[in-house]
This record gives sequence, structure tokens and C-alpha cells, in this order.
Amino acid sequence: MSETWDVVIVGGAVMGASAAYWLTRTDPGLRVLVVEMDPSYARAATALSVASVRQQFSNPVNVAVSRFGVGFIRDFQASLGHDVGIGSLGLKENGYLFLAGTPEGAALMTDLATMQRGLGAATEVLDPAALAAKFPWMQFDDVAAGSFGPRDEGWFDNMGLLNGFRAAARAQGAVFRTDRVTGLHRAGARLTGVQLAAGGTITAGAVINAAGTRGAEVMRMAGEDIPVEPRKRTVFVIDAPNARHADAPLLIDHTGYYMRPEHNHWIIATVPSIDPAVDPEDFEPDADQFEDVIWPLVYARAPGFDAVKVVRLWVGQYDYNTLDQNAIVGRWPGIDNLYVLNGFSGHGLQQSPAMGRGIAELVTGGRYQSLDLSDLGAERLRTGRPFLEAAIV
Ligand SMILES: Cc1cc2nc3c(=O)[nH]c(=O)nc-3n(C[C@H](O)[C@H](O)[C@H](O)COP(=O)(O)OP(=O)(O)OC[C@H]3O[C@@H](n4cnc5c(N)ncnc54)[C@H](O)[C@@H]3O)c2cc1C
Repeated sequence: MSETWDVVIVGGAVMGASAAYWLTRTDPGLRVLVVEMDPSYARAATALSVASVRQQFSNPVNVAVSRFGVGFIRDFQASLGHDVGIGSLGLKENGYLFLAGTPEGAALMTDLATMQRGLGAATEVLDPAALAAKFPWMQFDDVAAGSFGPRDEGWFDNMGLLNGFRAAARAQGAVFRTDRVTGLHRAGARLTGVQLAAGGTITAGAVINAAGTRGAEVMRMAGEDIPVEPRKRTVFVIDAPNARHADAPLLIDHTGYYMRPEHNHWIIATVPSIDPAVDPEDFEPDADQFEDVIWPLVYARAPGFDAVKVVRLWVGQYDYNTLDQNAIVGRWPGIDNLYVLNGFSGHGLQQSPAMGRGIAELVTGGRYQSLDLSDLGAERLRTGRPFLEAAIV
């Protein structure tokens, strides 16, 4: 006879681990199995993330998701309710600074800041003179306005978040197994079995797809399509001895790159102008991107970047939702016991506390209780109506 679990989660990085944690916290009797094919997480977006959290989103639901996220991250040990030996995630609240290059962009910033403040964020919009007074090492001649979050925005320990969720989920009874899901058996509107590479077939009351860049691959196993594809991002660590500003915010420049300090160095990346779907195994860096694209833009913003050295670089992949760059979360239409946590498009780490909690509420109680995530539901894929997140980095 095959093994039976109440819930099987495909993928055990931050989304899968958060879901396992919240499921076993919500219903301590639940038998939850997390199947993770690479427990080193060497290629998981979770491990390759820039690990930042912000309140500045264009959709109110994303602001609310991050408001919960930052509180959970700030008081991690207390939030988890377990002493898992991790303590603090070292949240560094330097803020985010978005720059707008046009009056239209500045007007949009003002509207969004009002919406974000209404939800409890502290976003303030500054004119170029105020920006220059606050950040004298940058120049703002080409800037119409900047929107800055003086609290609840910054960066933190990404692997601490993952390991904390894993340890707490385990303490609550979840089981993590190293194996690869290679097939899903379906009979009409239900999944009846999960095929494992090493371990035969198991049955599950519910299945959660938390497979990151392989989310679409997992949906195909059930005969379904989801518009999520791997997109490559090369991240550079830079030493700029004449521009050391450890208290700087995470800057999102309208000219097309983002950067934040990391100790004495900077972490910098851009969105490539040609940005195709890539193979989930393709981690070849675009090493010329810094010199060809990013450096001229950074130097134009801050003259202290006259002398720079690339210290190291890495490649991560976004699980990119091609419809609207927003998460796709909830019960999958047409399959009663399949749930998705996919398409986070570069902002999933900070969303993991709220997403895991939401999916646990759906699986155990059939509806969202603490925060309604239905705007992010998969139904919009059927209608083809995007729910656009404009503040994508
Ligand atoms: C360069 C970069 C910078 C980022 N910066 C930020 C940021 O600043 N802030 C932020 O909030 N987010 C950021 N993100 C996004 C964030 O890292 C991701 O959205 C989030 O980590 C997604 O988590 P996940 O668990 O869904 O996916 P992943 O971390 O990719 O994990 C998916 C897991 O599923 C496993 N898996 C896949 N298929 C199978 C299978 N068939 N069987 C078993 N296991 C399987 C994989 O091995 C993997 O461990 C960034 C991402 C990148 C790449």
C-alpha cells in the first residue's frame, strides 16, 4: 500500500517551508510532507535573493502582505513561537528609495504613497532639493521626485528565514524528504497520487506547488499551464572605495538598475533589456552587464563611483509571471486538491510569511481568514485579466 499524507508540498525552499510551518501551526494534527530535490538550495531563488523587504508596492494587497512580512521578520523568534537557535534575522531598516524621472512618475508616486500610508507604511515623497539634502553623495538633476520609506523597509538574512521556517515546521511535525516529484496522477478534478523519483507513488489529500522556477513544470505534470518562467538575473558585488555609504537605502533608479550597501560593498543588478525565458539549469552570468550597462548609470548618479571593482557576482532566477508579475496563489481552478504558490517575480522572499499563512488557511479551512489574497488567485489566468504590479524590480 502506498504512503498517505494529508498535504504534500512540492519544493521546500522559503514558500514550501513557510506553508509547512503554517499548516502544522494551524492544524497540529495535520500530516505534512515536504519534498525537496536539492536540500543544499544551491539554485533556489531563496538562496540567491537580494533579501530585501519593502512597503512600496502598487497593489494594496502586496503592501498588506509586506506589512505582515516585515513584522514577522523583525521579531522572527517570537513570530515563529519556537526557539530554533536562529534568533534575529538582522533586519537592517535603511529604507527603499525609488526615483522617478518624469512629472507623471512623480504624480503616481504621490498617489501610491498616500495608499501605502493608509495601510500603515511610512512612505514619503521628496522633491529633488530634499533628496539632495538627505543624500548629498548623489545628484538628482534628472529626477522629478523620490519616494522613500524611512521604516519597515530594508534587508535581512534570507537563509535564516528559510532555516527558521524549516526548523519550526519540523518541530511541529512536518517531514522534509529529499526526493524529486516527477509526476502527478489526476482523475478528473482531483489529484490522486504524487510520483517520486526515488520513492514510488504517494497519495495526498492536497498538493501544494511551491517549486519556484519549476512551477510550470509541476503544473504540466497535472496537464495544466501556468504563465511562469525562469528569468535570469546577474547580481554584482562592487567595491567603490570613494562611495562607501553603509547607511544608504536600497535605490531603485528610474534609469534602470537597483543597488544597496552590503557592509563596505554594494550589491547591484539591472533588468536585462533582452530578458527571455531561460532553462532552469542556466546559471551562466552576464559578466559584461556591469561595465556595459550598470556602471555608466551608477556613475552618472553618484560621482563617488569613479573607481569600482567587481568583487564577485552570482546568478539567480526569478520565477517570473509573464501575465502581470504578481504572485499566483490559491486553489487551482478545475483541480479541487491542488494549490499553487508560484510566480513571485522577484519579491517572494518578503511575501513568504503571508503566503504560507494564507495557503494554510485555504487548505485547512477553505477560505482566507487573516488577509484576503483572492486578488492573487489563479482565476485571473482563465479570464486573461492581469492584476498588474507596477513596482517591479
Ligand atoms: C536575484 C534575485 C533577487 C531577489 N531579491 C528579492 C528581494 O530582495 N526580496 C524578495 O522578497 N524577493 C527577492 N527575490 C525573489 C525571491 O527570492 C523568490 O520569490 C522566493 O525565494 C521564491 O521562493 P520559492 O520557495 O517559491 O522558490 P525557490 O526558492 O526557487 O525554491 C523552489 C524549490 O523547489 C524545489 N523543486 C523544484 N521542482 C521540484 C520537484 N519537481 N521536486 C522537488 N523539489 C522541487 C527546488 O529545488 C527549490 O529548492 C529575488 C530573487 C532573485 C533570483
